[in-house]
Amino acid sequence: MITSKNCVKSKKAHYMIFLIVLLCGVLSSLGIYFESANHIENDEKFSSMTFTRQLDDELQQYSSYASAIASLMQSTREQITPEHFAHFAQGLSAPSSVGFYFAQYVPSNKRTEYESSQKNILGSDFTIHPEGDRKEYLPIALGYPDKLSYGSDILSPLHKYLGAVKAARSSLTYTLSEPMIVSFPGWAESEFSDTFVIRLPVYLPVGLRAGKMTDSSGFHGIAGVYFRIDALLNSSGALNSRDLLYRIADVTSKSSPAWFSNSGNVSETTWNDGEYNTDYLSFAGRQWRIDTLYSANARPNISWGYVISPFIFFMVLACILAFYTRKFSLIYHSALAASTQRLEVDELTGLLSRYRVQQVLNELITDCKKEDKWLATLVLDLDHFKTINDAFGHEVGDKLLAKVAQRLTASLPNEAIIGYLGGDAFLAIVTEDDAQDMVKLKELVKEVILQISQSYFVDSRTLNIGCSIGVALAPEFGSDAITLIKNADMAVYQAKNSGRATYHFYDGEMGKKLVRNVRIESRLRHALANEEIELHFQPKVDIVTERCVGMEALLRWNDEELGAVSPAEFIPLAEQTGIILPLGEWVIEQALKHIVEWQEQGICVPPIAINCSAAQLKRVDFLPKLLDLLDRYKVDPGLLEIEVTESILIEDAEGCAELLRQISRLGIKLAIDDFGTGYSSLSYLKDLPFDYIKIDQVFIRDIIEDHNHAALTHAIIVLSHNLNLKVIAEGITNMDQLIMLQEFGCDIGQGYFFSKALGANSMGTDPMILALNQQDSL
Ligand code: C2E
Ligand code: MG
Ligand code: MG
Repeated sequence: MITSKNCVKSKKAHYMIFLIVLLCGVLSSLGIYFESANHIENDEKFSSMTFTRQLDDELQQYSSYASAIASLMQSTREQITPEHFAHFAQGLSAPSSVGFYFAQYVPSNKRTEYESSQKNILGSDFTIHPEGDRKEYLPIALGYPDKLSYGSDILSPLHKYLGAVKAARSSLTYTLSEPMIVSFPGWAESEFSDTFVIRLPVYLPVGLRAGKMTDSSGFHGIAGVYFRIDALLNSSGALNSRDLLYRIADVTSKSSPAWFSNSGNVSETTWNDGEYNTDYLSFAGRQWRIDTLYSANARPNISWGYVISPFIFFMVLACILAFYTRKFSLIYHSALAASTQRLEVDELTGLLSRYRVQQVLNELITDCKKEDKWLATLVLDLDHFKTINDAFGHEVGDKLLAKVAQRLTASLPNEAIIGYLGGDAFLAIVTEDDAQDMVKLKELVKEVILQISQSYFVDSRTLNIGCSIGVALAPEFGSDAITLIKNADMAVYQAKNSGRATYHFYDGEMGKKLVRNVRIESRLRHALANEEIELHFQPKVDIVTERCVGMEALLRWNDEELGAVSPAEFIPLAEQTGIILPLGEWVIEQALKHIVEWQEQGICVPPIAINCSAAQLKRVDFLPKLLDLLDRYKVDPGLLEIEVTESILIEDAEGCAELLRQISRLGIKLAIDDFGTGYSSLSYLKDLPFDYIKIDQVFIRDIIEDHNHAALTHAIIVLSHNLNLKVIAEGITNMDQLIMLQEFGCDIGQGYFFSKALGANSMGTDPMILALNQQDSL
């Protein structure tokens, strides 16, 4: 349902779509931004770790040189000459900027001996310096490339790094010095603490100490590897990426880092801002802090184009979608407005449309409830409008509808609401204020029927049409438009059933009736399929001799759920639903079967009349099927009679006349049933091949009391005889009726006075049939 709220919502839909799509764009761009930033951060961290790992690897490499020297000292029994040492050092393939030495342990008692042996080896003067008597000495004994330091005692109290040497001696493993300002011979002068020594104490196992100088624990000396930090950085490959800036500090025991190496291009503020990666390297008892940073021009920046592109894409998309949504919403709303406008009034009749009249009805019902008043819903349905449409075309039909609408408007009070429901149905709402009471309402309804039923002049033709009206009162029989119209519809249906050109007030019973009808329909289908129905036969009697002259086959149905259902109830339903076609065929076949059976039992069978509905006769295959059955059961057509009601003649007199003639030519007698209740006149029947007129039982029922009915019956009998038609009176229930009909000259009688309808098995025992057989045998 379209409400104003929904309308406003759908009008703002384009804003919503714009914002939602734009939000998607913002989220996508943010996602890409964070992804890129994360990527860059990881990239920087990785570079920092690589830098540190390369330094660590190189330091490991340098320490392996110290190990090599230690192994040389441990493994060689002879005195190693400087040439031998140089040769060995070169063989290590160390970077040229790295220096090596071995400081030899010399106890004070061996000093002189040692100095003289060194003199011999070196071929030059050798003294341990600085001068002075000490308990033990640790002079540089071998060096490469530097030989000038030979004899320099690193255990001398004057030695700058005595503490570190002592620590190295007792450590049993590598020690790395703190950054030192040392200028080894041959090296460029440096004023920075940028030099390091890796020291490894050399201990000799007991078996190798013979002839060598060691202390009691086997300490033989210290193997040293010295280098500048720049050399380490260069040889490690850490500087390969020139875009990576760095600074390194020894933080082993210092609270604030002492930077010993710095790539220098980074401003102090950048370092202070902390936009760098910090890593720590622990090696040989010392810890270095390494900060790295991409140089400003090399820093992988976030690609803003890449980040912004989804936002731009979504923004364009949002604009396009919002534009088209707005466009379509405008078209939709204008179409909706137009169709709502159109729906208000019906173009053909100028009355309110079905939709609008329902709305108004709902509103009026609410008002009525509030004011404790009633209103009447009238559904007016034209009788036989289809015939006019078929005969003169839809254009004439439409013009007639417009004229009916005008006349309806004129015949109802000004305040009445009138609408067109479609087809040939109209709806009028009359309130208590307009009609005042039920008597006045009924008069109004009658007046409407009268007015609508007056002739119309359309396209130079005079047209006559009747109408039926169904009335449903609110709030008693419906508290909403749909229920009320449905109930009025049911009432109009009832009005049509009770002979058209009349009205009916819905009384609540109709709904129940409808439910029963639905049940009857479904049970009847079931009964037919399972042969739960049967034929009974009611004798027809010669009114003078009282001899049986025929029998009428009548359907009997005793349903296990519904009980006995009268054909008067189920035959009209079978006609409406089409079940009458298979049912009618079954009746004919069943009647023929019984005739054959009785004949086989030797019973003299009078003609059997079957009832045929209009729907059956209208089928083109009615006659072929009848012939086929007669042929199959080999029954004399003279033993069959057919009863039809007048309705068939009203609907299609011409088509029907031909069929009746063909049936008559076969020798099958024809009767017009229920005569007097329809519209056909005797003169009309004179050209049709009927043999009998059956006067409806409503005339016979009160023929004694009602002089009009008696006179009418008498007139029908006289006129029928003039037309060579025999007359059958239906529903004779007493002697008086019989005597009067005898006096009128009626030919045949049928009714409970003679016999009710009998089951097929009673034929052999029924006195009337027995009498007939006896007379026949006489
Ligand atoms: P109908 O053809 O006019 O049949 C006569 C009806 O009057 C039967 O009602 C019958 O039982 C009843 N009747 C006969 N004598 C009396 C009497 O003395 N007093 C009263 N009150 N009623 C009497 P039934 O059997 O209920 O059938 C009703 C209608 O159903 C039939 O009226 C006929 O139109 C229709 N019908 C019955 N069987 C068939 C059928 O096989 N085919 C068709 N198409 N219609 C059938
Ligand atoms: Mg009948
Ligand atoms: Mg009848």
